[in-house]
Amino acid sequence: MWTDFSSRGADSASAAIQPCVAGRRDDAMERLRRLKHAVESLTVSDVLGHVAPDSASQDATQAADGDICAPASGDVRVTNLRHGEVLPYPLCLLEGTASGGATAVTVAVSDGAPASFAVVGGAWKAAVDLAPGSNSLTLGAIPCGGDATCLCVSYDASADGIGPPGTKAVRLVWLSASDGDGSFEVPPPPHPGCDVPHTAADGAARLLTAGRLMQAATAEMMHHQGLGRRTFRLVEDVTHHRLPHLTTRAACRMDGQKLWSHVFEAASGCARRDDLIDVAVMSFSCWDRAARKVRGHTALGGGRLGLFGGSSVWCWPANTAGLASAFTDCGKVDGKVCLDDGGRGRVWALAATTVGAALHELGHCLSLPHPCLTVAADRGGGIMARGFDHLNRLVAVTEAGRPLTGERPFWDRGCAARLRWHPWISAVGRVPPPGSAATSDGSRDGAETGGDGLLERALRAQKRLYDATPAVPMPKHKSMAAATPAPTPTTLDDLGRKIQGLLHPPAQDDGGGTSSGITAVSTEDKLCVLSGATLAPGRNPSFAPTTDGRLTVRVGRDVGAGGGLGHLGYYVNGDNAGHEEWVGGGMGQDGGPPAAVVLPTPAALRARLGAKATDKLVVSAIDTAGNMESMDYGTCNTV
Ligand SMILES: [Zn+2]
Repeated sequence: MWTDFSSRGADSASAAIQPCVAGRRDDAMERLRRLKHAVESLTVSDVLGHVAPDSASQDATQAADGDICAPASGDVRVTNLRHGEVLPYPLCLLEGTASGGATAVTVAVSDGAPASFAVVGGAWKAAVDLAPGSNSLTLGAIPCGGDATCLCVSYDASADGIGPPGTKAVRLVWLSASDGDGSFEVPPPPHPGCDVPHTAADGAARLLTAGRLMQAATAEMMHHQGLGRRTFRLVEDVTHHRLPHLTTRAACRMDGQKLWSHVFEAASGCARRDDLIDVAVMSFSCWDRAARKVRGHTALGGGRLGLFGGSSVWCWPANTAGLASAFTDCGKVDGKVCLDDGGRGRVWALAATTVGAALHELGHCLSLPHPCLTVAADRGGGIMARGFDHLNRLVAVTEAGRPLTGERPFWDRGCAARLRWHPWISAVGRVPPPGSAATSDGSRDGAETGGDGLLERALRAQKRLYDATPAVPMPKHKSMAAATPAPTPTTLDDLGRKIQGLLHPPAQDDGGGTSSGITAVSTEDKLCVLSGATLAPGRNPSFAPTTDGRLTVRVGRDVGAGGGLGHLGYYVNGDNAGHEEWVGGGMGQDGGPPAAVVLPTPAALRARLGAKATDKLVVSAIDTAGNMESMDYGTCNTV
């Protein structure tokens, strides 16, 4: 059914980074050779090195364009990556600063030609492809090309810890109608993009570039939340699939839901269905001139399929070298002749909105809800709200031709915490089964099962957690603007395992217990964490009502997988209204993440979340092995 006759997007896969410095390549290569020599003679520790020039690089004052410049005026620094970093994905996003009046920064990867990236207001961003294994990155400044900054970054696909090849991954699919050749539509002349090559292979190359960007963006945004560069694994070859029972004409008469259903059905028989999430683009989307509307188009994600129309693929970058230009192109988009998705009328904005929307829909496939009841607001909710419009800010230092000032794209905290434990997301540093050694992020699951004094120990640990966790002001969930505090990475890293309470300040009455063995526990403003207490058999987290009208969430530990609860999410009418999270990391002798948590009563939880009695309240749990379960807290036989 789901045929796989594809090839990797040729443009992208073979794309050498284009030397963007005009002028003599010989000079550039000679300079690069000298800089490499400088690197090899250095000892660089875990901090980014600013390379002092040796005798060879002292001579390297001739810029690549042939101009003679004063030495050492451009001090280039990388601020988001450390020397020796290992990335489990190939697209390396860099950002940093450059001093000395530099107008551009060059980045050369190993023996490749340098690519240049604009410096605006002393800041720059770059995107380069890494080869498997170790890559030496050499950075210099233009025009004056002072000292070089060098760092080593490795690409190791197996470092994601997700599992052996063939396990859970995201697959990119280029769809053709039964009567189509897989080419995609471009705007009519003289509109920007009218001359873009648009065969099926060209489309697949752009989809692969977008997929790699979504993968790297996910990692970068997780890193920014202090949760490590975790991301999904990508099937690197784009799958081409012809829909045998869908003509272009029929597709153009379907709405988004019907298109999604058709493609979902067509993919249902594919191999490894349970392990693959498809990001599929329809090549046959087309502009209806009379109606001034796009046909055969949608942006819908859920289950194992995120589906998109291909009408804006012409503005997506064709390869890594084209990323920066695609997301800064100020060419005008005419909404009368082609889709101006997002309505901002510029090529960079269309690229940001449509690639960003693809990531948003993939987020739904990764179980992420909208934060805060609406996607309409422009800020505050990140990628799963309307923040996907700003994906350009990950790779660009200008927006609409002006220096970038807006908020960078992000996962809101609830989504980031959920992704941290999601089975499709990198398991680097995941808490190991009981008895295992400490994880790579230093955590240790030392919780014991049964025994006296557990409750007291758990409560002591919980109190310490709360005491150590700075209060995060949290408005009612309907307020978008403050719904996404971004804790600093150092705070999270330093504290290790902690509860990040993103709840509305709790009501005084949380349903205080009167029976069931937890009567002594005051949960006035805290959850009761029973570390290592009553364990549930089975694989997924389980829910059990207590006699006093609350819900106990438990995780199993007898399958060698779960190491405790990783995340509890509270969803009001389907949207993320608050959450609790346990970040991997040592918590001392009281053990790792909790094995059981007692929630407040539904009424108390509603009060915390600012939800009405008629709102649908769902609690979702995900354990540290990525097993998920959710429950409607209004129908679980609690009072
Ligand atoms: Zn959505």
